[in-house]
Amino acid sequence: MQSPEQTAQQIAALRQLIRQYDHEYYVLDMPSVPDSEYDRLFRELQALEQAHPELVTSDSPTQRVGGTPLPELEAVRHRVPMLSIETETDITPEGARAFDARTRKKLGLSDNDPPVEYAAELKFDGLAISLRYENGLLVQAATRGDGEVGEDVTQNIRTIRQIPLRLEGPTPEVLEVRGEVYMSRPDFERYNARQRAQGKPTLVNPRNGAAGAVRQLDSRLTAQRLLSFFTYGLGETKGWEVPARHSELLDALQCFGFPVCAERIVGLGPEPLVQFHRNVAAKRDSLPYDIDGVVYKVNLLALQRELGFRSREPHWAVAHKFPAQEALTELLAIDVQVGRTGAITPVARLKPVFVGGVTVTNATLHNQDEIDRKDVRVGDTVSVRRAGDVIPEVVGVVKDRRPPGSVPYNLLEAIGHHCPVCGSHVIRQEDESVARCTGGLFCSAQRKQAILHFASRRAMDIEGLGEKLVDQLVDAELVHTLADIYKLDSQTLAGLERMAEKSAQNIIDALQKSKKTTLARFIYALGIRNVGEATAKDLAKYFGSLQGLLEADAEKLQQVPDVGPVVADSIVQFLGEAHNREVINALIAAGIHWEDGAGTPADGVFNGKTLVLTGTLPNMSRDEAKALIEEAGGKVAGSVSRKTDYVVAGAEAGSKLEKARELGVTIIDEAALLELLSN
Ligand code: NAD
Repeated sequence: MQSPEQTAQQIAALRQLIRQYDHEYYVLDMPSVPDSEYDRLFRELQALEQAHPELVTSDSPTQRVGGTPLPELEAVRHRVPMLSIETETDITPEGARAFDARTRKKLGLSDNDPPVEYAAELKFDGLAISLRYENGLLVQAATRGDGEVGEDVTQNIRTIRQIPLRLEGPTPEVLEVRGEVYMSRPDFERYNARQRAQGKPTLVNPRNGAAGAVRQLDSRLTAQRLLSFFTYGLGETKGWEVPARHSELLDALQCFGFPVCAERIVGLGPEPLVQFHRNVAAKRDSLPYDIDGVVYKVNLLALQRELGFRSREPHWAVAHKFPAQEALTELLAIDVQVGRTGAITPVARLKPVFVGGVTVTNATLHNQDEIDRKDVRVGDTVSVRRAGDVIPEVVGVVKDRRPPGSVPYNLLEAIGHHCPVCGSHVIRQEDESVARCTGGLFCSAQRKQAILHFASRRAMDIEGLGEKLVDQLVDAELVHTLADIYKLDSQTLAGLERMAEKSAQNIIDALQKSKKTTLARFIYALGIRNVGEATAKDLAKYFGSLQGLLEADAEKLQQVPDVGPVVADSIVQFLGEAHNREVINALIAAGIHWEDGAGTPADGVFNGKTLVLTGTLPNMSRDEAKALIEEAGGKVAGSVSRKTDYVVAGAEAGSKLEKARELGVTIIDEAALLELLSN
C-alpha cells in the first residue's frame, strides 16, 4: 500500500512527464515517445486521480485539451470550443457496446426503448483545423490549440488544394467547418525518401509531418509538404439551417465542396458499429492515410445537445482505437541486409513488439546517415513504426532510457568493410548515404537481380528466364553464378515445380540462342553499376574487344566518349573483384561469343556526332534508327541541346522539334537520314 504522500508524488511525477510530452507533441511537433507510451501514462494518471478525487487539480493534463498555441502565430479564440474525443481503449467489439450502454444510460433509456442511431467514421491521424467561411469565402483557419484558443494558420491552410477558398452553392453568412489536415502515406513516404536521399532529417510520422507543416511561419514550406483534408464537423454557423443529423451534415458539407471520407456508415445500436470497427480494421493497412481508430457519434444533433460535454470531450462521441502503429521496444542488435543492388541496409533486431497489428522483430534503420542523425545505439529503447504495408522502421530513440556505456554504431566497422553474404569489399561513395557490396555477380543476395538483368531483352535477351524461374533456380541452389545458367539442362528444368517439359526445352533453346550476341550487349548484361546500355555501346565501340576493356585502367576508360570518373571508377571496381573476372571467363567458356569490332571506327558518317530522334518515322522504328546511327559512329541522345548535331523528325514531333528550331539545330527527316547513311 502506498502512503498518501507517495501517491501524491507519483501523480506529480506523472503530470510532469505528461506535460513534457505534451510540449514536445503539441508545441514542437516532435514527440520523443510514441502515442501508445503517452496513452499508457495518461491512463495511469487518470486511474490514480479517479481513486483519489481529492488530488485532482484543474491544471492536470487529464482536465484539459492538450496543446499550447505558439506565441509566434496569432491567437484565435474559438467561438465554439474545439474538443478532443474520449478514447475507448478496449479494442475488442466490447468497446462499441460499452459506448452504447453509457450513452443509453445518460439518455435515461431502458432496455425497452428503441436503439440509438449512430454515425461511424474514421479517426484520421492528423491535425484538427477550424475553417471559417464568411459569405462563402475562407477568412480564417485556426488550429485547435488548447481547445479555447488556437493559432491563426490561414496563409498555410490556403496552400492546401483540397480546401475550398470559396464555398459552392448557397453561401451562409458564417460557416465554421472542422476537420483534419493530414499527410497521405504516399506523400509521406515520398517526402522522407527525398529527404533521406539528400541526407536531410526525415519526419517521424505523417501526423507530425502535417502538424509541423501547418504550424509554419513560412507558408512556402507548408506548400512543399503535400497535405490533404477531410471534414468531420461544425463550429459556429449563422444564416444556415443545420441538418438534423450528423450524417446529413457531412452530406451537406460535401455539397459545399469539402472532401468527406466515403468510409462511413449510419446504424442503429452498437452492432453496426462493431461491424464497422471490424471492417475498417481489415482494410486499415491498405488505406492511403493513417488512422488510429474509428469514431462513433450519436447521429441526431438534438440528442448530441442533450448529452452535452465535459471539460475536454463531448459525451456523444467516442474514439474506438486500433492497435498502435508506433510502439517502444528494445534494440537488441543491428544486423545488415544485402539488397538486390548490393545496397547494405542496417536492420534493427528488436525485442518482439506488437505494433500496427502484428508482432515485429526487425525494423529498418535505412542507412548510416539516418543512424547518425537519430543517434541509434544497440541497447536503446526505440520507437518503431509499422503502418500500411511499408517495412517497419525505427523512427526514434528515447535518450533518457539509454543504458550507460553504449557507443555510436558504425556500419562499415561493424561488418569489417566486407559483405556478410559474400565477403566482397563494401564501400560507401562520398556523395552517397548507402554502403554497397562490390561483390556484384558473385554475391548471392544480388544474384537474382543480376540474372534477371543479364537475361533481359536489351541484354542477353533470354526469353522465359523470368522472375519466378530465377527465384526457383537460385533458391534451389542450381545457379550460383551467371555462368551456371548455361549449365542447365532440360531435365533439371523440367524437375522444377510447375515447369512443363516443353517450356523447359524452350528455355534451353533460348539460352543456346543467346550465346551469339554483341560485345555491347554482353558488357551491358554484366550489370556493372553506372554502365547502362549507352555506355556499354560506347565501351564496345571504343575497345572493340573484351580483352581491351579488361586491360583498361581508370585513365584509359575516361578516354571513352562520355565516360567520366564515376563510371570509370565503377568499372575498375567491378573488374577489380576476382569473382567477377571468374564469372566473365566462365561465360566465355560456356560459349558466349560475338564478332569483335575494329575498335573505334574511324569512318562512320556520324562519328562523334549526336542525334536526337523525335516523332514517328515512316518506315523505321526508333530502335532501328538508333541502331543504324550507332553503327555509323553516332550517338543518340534523349534531349535537344546546343551540342545536338541533327534532329531526325518524324510525324507528330513535338517539343524537341520546337527546341531544335529555337537552337538552330539541323533538322532532317527519315529520307535524309538514310541518304546520309548511304554515304
Ligand atoms: P485525439 O487526437 O486522440 O482525438 C481528438 C482528435 O481527433 C480531434 O481533435 C480531431 O482532430 C481528431 N479526429 C480525427 N478524426 C475525427 C473524426 N472523424 N471526428 C472527430 N474528430 C476526429 O485526442 P487529442 O486530444 O488531440 O490528443 C491525444 C492524442 O495525442 C493521443 O492519441 C495521444 O497519444 C497523443 N499525444 C501523444 C503525445 C506523445 O508524446 N507521443 C503527447 C501528447 C498527445
